[in-house]
Amino acid sequence: MTARLIDGFDREITYVRLSVTDRCDFRCVYCMSEDMTFLPRQQILSLEEIYRVGRVLVELGVKKIRLTGGEPLIRQNILWLVEKLAALNGLQELTMTTNGSRLKTLAQPLKDAGLDRINISLDSLNATRFHEITRTGHLSDVLAGITAAQQAGFQRIKLNSVIMRHRNDDEILTLVNFARQQQLDLAFIEEMPLGNISEHQRIDTYISNEEIRQRIAQEYALLPATDNTGGPARYYRMTDSQSRIGFISPHSHNFCGSCNRVRVTVEGRLLLCLGNEHSADLRAPIRAHTDNDQPLIETIINALPLKPERHYFDLDETPQIVRFMNMTGG
Ligand code: SAM
Ligand code: SF4
Repeated sequence: MTARLIDGFDREITYVRLSVTDRCDFRCVYCMSEDMTFLPRQQILSLEEIYRVGRVLVELGVKKIRLTGGEPLIRQNILWLVEKLAALNGLQELTMTTNGSRLKTLAQPLKDAGLDRINISLDSLNATRFHEITRTGHLSDVLAGITAAQQAGFQRIKLNSVIMRHRNDDEILTLVNFARQQQLDLAFIEEMPLGNISEHQRIDTYISNEEIRQRIAQEYALLPATDNTGGPARYYRMTDSQSRIGFISPHSHNFCGSCNRVRVTVEGRLLLCLGNEHSADLRAPIRAHTDNDQPLIETIINALPLKPERHYFDLDETPQIVRFMNMTGG
């Protein structure tokens, strides 16, 4: 197959985030409301259907797939999907973003199944606060998960932290020092206005990555790194450490110009942009044509012109994007 995925602004789509579930064992305050309603089973893609989407996208030139959610490791038989996707010809990298709660037992099986890299979310190293932010999570599980991922031989493990003013902004350097000790990369993600949350006003907790960078720079000189991971983060190095510090700044540094990504939700909705509602339904052609990929391919290709040039986030207004991050596939 020779078709490539080029959008209306000449950006080639080579990176897809596949959400494998909208469910989660945590209820992080910036991501979900306390009592969430999740999708009924018949509305979500089966693992075979998710694999089919991944296979077709790789045939169309996608080189990197990230599995996400919700929490990908609570999906039953996730190892089957990892193994199938990892074996696809043409896929250069299969990665996962996880909250780490189940990595203690799953890190080695994931490595054996062919997962290349792993990102683990960690917003606090204080057990009480960790529990407050995640509402249900336990720091000790995630720390054990990080150790298990290191022992399983994962390289370039990356931590993701969402920093909220007055909530965990006093832990910026603690997180950096932990990453340095453990030889992990660390990326700070600015909180995005996805979904209506109850616990705080996002405008009160917003802290720009530039401020975070300046606070770190008071302790460690940060030198811009030249390597590009193909994602939205801008990376810096420190002179005395292997760890890289990244900043994903959807508010303060718009990364749309080089956007090579699309997302597929667990309902089979192809989302062309994180910050916009433009989407196409892939589930209909998947289910209507179980033996013929052509209608699915056409739906994907016809959707590309919907990819907008850029996103706009406005913290002052009620969220323009009503879907939560767990539906979006972070
Ligand atoms: N459950 C997994 C996890 O937490 O890593 C994967 C899915 S989660 C939606 C992916 C990433 O999105 C996490 O690093 C999380 O911190 C981040 N995230 C969730 N809601 C967000 C928001 N409103 N703004 C910025 N990042 C968010
Ligand atoms: Fe779950 Fe990840 Fe959302 Fe936290 S950020 S509630 S771990 S999906």
